[in-house]
Amino acid sequence: MKSLAELLQQSAFSEADLLRLLKTSDPAQCQALYAEAFRRTTLVHGNTIYFRGLIEISNICVYDCRYCGIRKGNAAARRYTLSMDEILEAARYALKAGYGSVALQSGERNDPKFIDFIEEICAAIHDMSVKEFGIAQGCGMTLSFGEQTPQTYERWAAAAGNRNALRYLLRIETSNQKLFARLHSGQGKAQKTYAARLQALADLRNAGYQVGTGVMIGIPGQTEEDLVRDILTFRELDVDMLGMGPYLVSHGGAMIDEGMMQKDALLRLTRNMLSTTRLALPTVNIAAATALETLQTGARSLGVLSGCNVMMPNVTPQRTRASYQLYDNKQGTEAEPDSNVMLEAELIAKTGRKIGRHLLGSSVHFRSRQEGSKQN
Ligand code: SF4
Repeated sequence: MKSLAELLQQSAFSEADLLRLLKTSDPAQCQALYAEAFRRTTLVHGNTIYFRGLIEISNICVYDCRYCGIRKGNAAARRYTLSMDEILEAARYALKAGYGSVALQSGERNDPKFIDFIEEICAAIHDMSVKEFGIAQGCGMTLSFGEQTPQTYERWAAAAGNRNALRYLLRIETSNQKLFARLHSGQGKAQKTYAARLQALADLRNAGYQVGTGVMIGIPGQTEEDLVRDILTFRELDVDMLGMGPYLVSHGGAMIDEGMMQKDALLRLTRNMLSTTRLALPTVNIAAATALETLQTGARSLGVLSGCNVMMPNVTPQRTRASYQLYDNKQGTEAEPDSNVMLEAELIAKTGRKIGRHLLGSSVHFRSRQEGSKQN
């Protein structure tokens, strides 16, 4: 078997190599893996961390994913939808802070009223970024509103304005189809299919979005082989960006009895997954998930030190933060945007990276693909 030192010299990795990297457990070897992922991130992406101001628009959802605290079947969740003014104020806050992009997310709805509302929001934020902030092409926008039709993706893309910085995050959660079915079988019946998820990702690519996906790490029943298969799937899907975080149990979900991994082991597996993914996919953007903070205060900086190059400070108004509980003990729910933003700056400073202010922050992967298509 190859040594870790030999593996860390390679630029291409077989399935067996990836499994070996993912299974690293000796503390010194783990540090070597993280340091190499950090080094390669610097080589490809420089010393900059891109920020997206995260706005959690609504926690209303018509689906029942078993792991999720805001699933429809959780009668205890206090539901909210932000007003247009609240959303614009949050976006204004993010743009004033110098973030070149906002990220908009909510529970999933497919009704015409919701689709119209999101379209109006995209257009209003674009307009504001041009007229109030002088961003000629408009700010970047990352949308995360689940599976929609190609027509809806196109309407939202047109409204968001700047097609060079238009992104959509739709996680596959796992590439193990049996596990996917188990996660998405709310109220006894399958509400989501893996095939439909892949189709949605293809539709998003056709609509011109930079496409992001991701998985949960440490789901009950998930194996390390599954995680390797996830990395290979990211490569097959040719994604531009990734958002991955630890699986955390939610008391509003329907998987409480299945428990979760012990925190130290979960933090190590998450960092191993981030670094192994970075080695396999050097040019994609990888976000340091807020869920890391629930495992250990300041752990998003560990995400950066493991190969992440994006952070998403939460700029949602404080009054609704606590209601967007996808998992238990989500961090930053009490803080005002100001203190969250200061915290993020402190986290970044610890890693030696710089915040990329006033930058759109598209991934090198996307930019290379664009260059390639121009030359063809
Ligand atoms: S994961 Fe998304 S679609 Fe599923 S219940 Fe939660 S918010 Fe709804």
